[in-house]
Parts: sequence; C-alpha cells; structure tokens
Amino acid sequence: MTLVFDVRTLLFVGSLSSLACTVMLWSSRGLHLPSKVALRWAAGSQLMFGLALGGVALRGAIPDLLSFQIAHTLGTGAAALAYEGVRRLTGARPLPWLAVGTNLALLAVNLRLGSDASHLVARLQLNSAVHAVFAAASVPLLLGRLRGGDDATGPLRWATGFMVLFVVGHLLRLGVTSIAGAHVSVDGMVEGPLQMMMPTVFALGPMVYSMILIGLVNGRLAADLWRLATVDVLTGLRTRRSFVDEARRMLEAGGQPVLLMLDLDRFKQVNDRHGHVGGDRVLVHFARLLREHSPEGSVIGRHGGEEFCLLLPQASPDEGQAHAQRLCDAVRSTSFGPSMPVTVSIGVASAADGGTLEALLLAADRRLYSAKAGGRDRVVAADDPLAPDTERMPEAPHDAAYEAPAVLPSAPRPAKALGAG
Ligand code: GH3
Ligand code: MG
Ligand code: MG
Repeated sequence: MTLVFDVRTLLFVGSLSSLACTVMLWSSRGLHLPSKVALRWAAGSQLMFGLALGGVALRGAIPDLLSFQIAHTLGTGAAALAYEGVRRLTGARPLPWLAVGTNLALLAVNLRLGSDASHLVARLQLNSAVHAVFAAASVPLLLGRLRGGDDATGPLRWATGFMVLFVVGHLLRLGVTSIAGAHVSVDGMVEGPLQMMMPTVFALGPMVYSMILIGLVNGRLAADLWRLATVDVLTGLRTRRSFVDEARRMLEAGGQPVLLMLDLDRFKQVNDRHGHVGGDRVLVHFARLLREHSPEGSVIGRHGGEEFCLLLPQASPDEGQAHAQRLCDAVRSTSFGPSMPVTVSIGVASAADGGTLEALLLAADRRLYSAKAGGRDRVVAADDPLAPDTERMPEAPHDAAYEAPAVLPSAPRPAKALGAG
C-alpha cells in the first residue's frame, strides 16, 4: 500500500490544528459567560492533545521522556478534560477530580512503562480504551440536553454523532491492536493502515470538535439574546419590542382588535413607601393578575416601567371596555400586601380608532391620560368631547433607567400636576 502522507506529518498537522483550536476556544471563553468554564476545560483538553501529538511527531528528535511518557499521558488524559468540558456544558455535576485523578494515574502508568517502544501496543490500547470510555460517557449527557430542548438541536446532534464516531473509531483501534498488535518502525513510529487512519482523525478531529463546541455556544448565545430582547426579566411578560412585533402580526392578520393601555396609579409612592423591591413585587403580582384575567390569545407586554399594554385580537369595543373594567376592579380588590393599596388606570382603543398599531396606541394613551386626569382607578374607552382637544402638553420626564427606547412615536405626556388627586 502506497502511503501518501507519512504518520509524522499527519501527527504534526494534528498538533498544529489542536493548538490553533486551543487558542480559538480560549479566546472565545468570554463569548457566553455561562459557557466560560466549559470552554476553558475544552481549551485545556485541546492544548494537552496538541502537545501530545507534537511530542509523538517529534519522536527521536526530543527526549524519550517527552515523546513517550509525557506525550502519551497528555494525549490520553486530554479525554478526561474534554469529558469534564461536556459535563460543564450540559449542566451535569462537575467532577474535576476525575480529570485530575485520571491524569495522575496515566502519568504513573506511563512512567512505569518507560520509553521502550515495545510497550507501544499497551499504550495504544490504554489510549483507545480511555478515549472510548470518556466519549461514551459524554453521549448520554448530550442526549439528555437534546431531549431537554434547551439548546439549538443542530450542534447538539453533531456533537452526539461526533462522540459516537469517536467511540466506534477507538473501539476499532483497540480491537485491531489487541488482535494484530502494531508494527513499529525503526524510528519508533507505529505504522499500518489503522495507524494511518488515526493520525488523519487526529488531524481533523480537533477542528471538528471545536467547531461543534463553538456552534453550540453560539446557539446558546443567540437564544439568550432572543430571550433578553423578547421577555421582560422582571415580569416574564413580552418586552415592548416583542409586544409591538406580535401586535403588528395580529393586526395584519385582520380581525377586530381592542388595545388596552394600563398604568399603575401613584406607583412612585409604592416605591417610596416599600422600596424598589416592594415595588418590583407589585409589578410581578400585577403581571400575573393580568395574565390570569385575560382571555387566551391576548398579547400582553410591559410597555415600560409600570405601564403595560394588552391587545385583544378579536373583541368588540364593548367587550374590550368590559374586560378593562374587570381588570381595574380585580386590581383594586386584590391584596398586594399590608397597607399597600394598588389601583390601575386604563385607556381603551378599538378598531374605530384606526387600523394601525400606532393609531391604537395613540388613542389608548390619550384615554389613559384622561383616566389619570379624571381621578385614576378607572377605565376610559372614548374621548371626552369636552376635553380641550388633543394638543398635549410636553412629556413629564420619565424614569430613563426603566424605559425601553421608544419604538413608536407616542403622543407627549402631560405634566404630572394635571392629574387629579
Ligand atoms: P401616576 O398615577 O400618574 O401614573 O403616578 P406614578 O407615580 O405611577 O407615575 P410615574 O410614571 O411618575 O412613576 C412611575 C414610577 O415607576 C417611577 C419609577 O421609579 C417606577 N418604576 C418604573 N419601573 C420600575 C421597576 O421596574 N421597578 C420599580 N420598583 N419601580 C419602577
Ligand atoms: Mg403610574
Ligand atoms: Mg407611568
């Protein structure tokens, strides 16, 4: 059989590729903080693997201690670090001492075997057995994650497939080496078709492994960003952006929408009396109440601060007003805590106010203001014909720390002083 690439070259390419992947994994550890430790373990395993392949490739040119005992310890022990990386990535209980203990045991075995090339078969068997065991132990962890549905399934499937292939490859190597032994060349390199295949796998494996890992972490990062952009962390309701997107989709689908804009009354006083933590609890409780009291299919979002929006995609103006009144009554009669009366003012807009979300939001906002001006704790579903028309006063400064950037051109808010007691 003509061998196009010699074993040394393949091992050397594998070494360089592992070291390059070490740099990539290490420098990516800040990409997604929850995956940072996993990436560190993975980078550590790639570093060990790269040094080991380099040590074997340079056999004869460097001291035997490095190219036999140390190289085989590192190359085999890397499997334990890779496994710990998978444990961290999949949320399994960390077992760092398993990695440390495995490496110490391997060092002891390799030192004992000495640098006699005749022990290479035992070393190859040990290497394959350890790699196969750790890769096999990783499979159920990856499958569990796949079943949990928390991660992007693509990279997880690839990672699982990669591990299974790795197990099969190493079992094959273990079997062939055990049955047929291994042919060792005069310069101490193991030869034969299977031994050609393994360096090829070693040359490509680190890259494939690292790309899958980075794909998995990127998938997590994307999912986290999506959650942050669409789910309000405090209340679990839609963010303003997500509400606007979903409401627009609903309106485009047609139907008879009603929009409610709700604003908690005198919420500053709640914060002043009970602190921001107390205020936060009220917001969480209010959001739950809003969800529980709204029909299925409602789109509910936190518009900003203590202001919420609710879209009923299919409701008559009367039904919308009745729903708003039920909510207003429910909030008033709910206990949010001792000496903590909470009420809400609601502005209601319906299809008659216009077909666009902007028109609905403007009308609902205008009526919310009327509800505040009329004494709060009430619902306003129509414009007051006697009100001094729509020239609104400039907006009172909002609490910038809590407000999302404006998505829609909203009408300016009147100064607070206009609100009745
Ligand atoms: P009004 O009846 O006129 O609506 O009076 P208000 O005090 O509720 O109105 P204003 O908009 O002036 O104050 C809202 C306050 O809500 C200001 C801000 O400190 C508070 N707030 C906004 N977001 C949060 C939050 O996430 N948590 C807490 N605890 N307070 C918040
Ligand atoms: Mg308020
Ligand atoms: Mg407000």
